[in-house]
Amino acid sequence: MTKQCKACGNDFQPHPKVPDQEYCSSPMCQRERRRRWQQEKRRHDSDYRDNDARQIKDWLSDNPDYWQRYRKINPGYAERNRNLQQARNKKQRDQRIANEDELPSLTTLSTQRNRGSPGNSRSTLRTAHQLRG
Ligand SMILES: [Zn+2]
Repeated sequence: MTKQCKACGNDFQPHPKVPDQEYCSSPMCQRERRRRWQQEKRRHDSDYRDNDARQIKDWLSDNPDYWQRYRKINPGYAERNRNLQQARNKKQRDQRIANEDELPSLTTLSTQRNRGSPGNSRSTLRTAHQLRG
């Protein structure tokens, strides 16, 4: 048994499981079917459009962690950022440790080397403190 598509007017064979099928299976006609269905729905239900917005709002308030999950589902972006941040943190940490390790020997060294010359000693000490940040 064939039917006539309501969109393109061509004869088509309805799907056995969908005997009431009114549109052929071409993507264009299926899109048209959905469009008409929504149009019809809007005409009969004046709240339809409001419901749409309300549902999204409700859904978002039910899912406050939406953006967290979004980042979890799309790990590439967040992962890259986290790695960059960790690399930055590690670099800063390493620098700080290196400077703190360096500081006593630097001070001792300059004090020994510049004994009898307080001016130089002070400026070396100041440099050491600047290094420490
Ligand atoms: Zn069609």
